[in-house]
Amino acid sequence: MLNYNRTTEQWQEFDRDHHIHPFSDPDALGKQGTRVITKAEGSYIYDSEGHKILDGMAGLWCVNVGYGRKELIEAADRQIRELPYYNSFFQTAHPPQIELSRLLSEVTPQGFNHFFFAGSGSEANDTNVRLVRHYWDIKGKPEKATFISRKNAYHGSTLAATSLGGMGYMHNMGGKDGSLLPGFEHIGQPFWYLEGGEMSEDEFGLARAQELEEKILELGAENVAAFIGEPIQGAGGVIVPPSTYWPEIQRICKKYDILLIADEVICGFGRTGSWFGSQTFDIKPDIITMAKGISSGYIPISASGIHDDVFKVLNEGGNINHGYTYSGHPVASAVAIANINYIKDHGLVEKVRDETGPYLSAGLQSLVDNHPLVGEARGRGMMAAIQLVKDKDTHEVYSGDQDAAGMCKNHCFENDLIMRATDQSMIISPPLTISINEIDELLDKAKLCLDLTAKDLGVL
Ligand SMILES: *Cc1c(COP(=O)(O)O)cnc(C)c1O
Repeated sequence: MLNYNRTTEQWQEFDRDHHIHPFSDPDALGKQGTRVITKAEGSYIYDSEGHKILDGMAGLWCVNVGYGRKELIEAADRQIRELPYYNSFFQTAHPPQIELSRLLSEVTPQGFNHFFFAGSGSEANDTNVRLVRHYWDIKGKPEKATFISRKNAYHGSTLAATSLGGMGYMHNMGGKDGSLLPGFEHIGQPFWYLEGGEMSEDEFGLARAQELEEKILELGAENVAAFIGEPIQGAGGVIVPPSTYWPEIQRICKKYDILLIADEVICGFGRTGSWFGSQTFDIKPDIITMAKGISSGYIPISASGIHDDVFKVLNEGGNINHGYTYSGHPVASAVAIANINYIKDHGLVEKVRDETGPYLSAGLQSLVDNHPLVGEARGRGMMAAIQLVKDKDTHEVYSGDQDAAGMCKNHCFENDLIMRATDQSMIISPPLTISINEIDELLDKAKLCLDLTAKDLGVL
């Protein structure tokens, strides 16, 4: 039986002695000690010291329906008793994965009627790479194999997903480009506030999209398989592209016969105030990556949504030699169904679009107007970033010892609010169930932590 009754110190010791954390420096973390999270309810998590902490990140952008929902818990309980596991490799299937596929065809954009399951967003993107290359091979164009993505994109942490992503520090683990596979190229990101220079937002959006055309011409369209992008870059810092960006990307993909993959792992399932970010930005992708909010993180599952036009080709191409032991896992599928029904039944997409999204956005805008450290607030729905700056006019950010975002994150930690620091932005991505009162609490705490940071920096 799992021992829930240890002291914080014991857990920290065992954690340090036996557990390697993702995206962490083991030595530094061991010295700091980890915060041990023991339970959660609604929009709050609790640590082993009894602190009640407002989870402004919904775990890791994933707990869309909030914690403790009995509908999801009961779905898992029932399914693990009924059928805890069976594969779908050898002419077998089971009700949860069949029903989930059908339900996804209802909530995803028009034309998406077929789904391939995996256990994580990374694996779903690996699936996409393999299926897209298979697709072009079936069409008699096996040379169309290179993927184009953006710098500072995040698509996961397997080898293919790391290569699709644009995080230099991930590519460089294991030496310069040590983790970057051949066949993956990157263009600039549409981050106007920090990279736009003298250009207007619209001009910059076009310019960054046109880098795709330049890259295609450089590689030869006959060698390019697909472009992948998050509708809004999440881990990169909630980067909302200028309105000119996606239309131009789509024009270029069409012109050169390049598939378009929308990585909806964060944007999907209501976060931007539509079911999918593709709808928020009027993107018509060929493939959609889904994970995180598909099960609200209660259990690992992901899916690649395949558009009818792509599926038609795959359907004529013989065996798909790809799959995971846990593709369409029954318990995970059952939880995902309960999660999607929860989002529907509680009108969470509409709530984010009409009520909480605009409310959060107005609150953040008031920080931009009134706080010396806040240069801009970006986002849509329940996905936002507060950009910290040294100079509001030049958009210069703090650097070196003056790590404003790092300081702010530490103050958040001390004040029982989870906000993540990415470069010099503070990231907010709460459960879609967050109430107006809880948003007020989030904004009050955020302001307090920004004030404390401004004091540290001597600007308040
Ligand atoms: C988190 C994330 C992934 C990777 O998902 P994992 O489940 O961590 O493998 C992929 N794409 C995007 C946009 C993400 O935010």
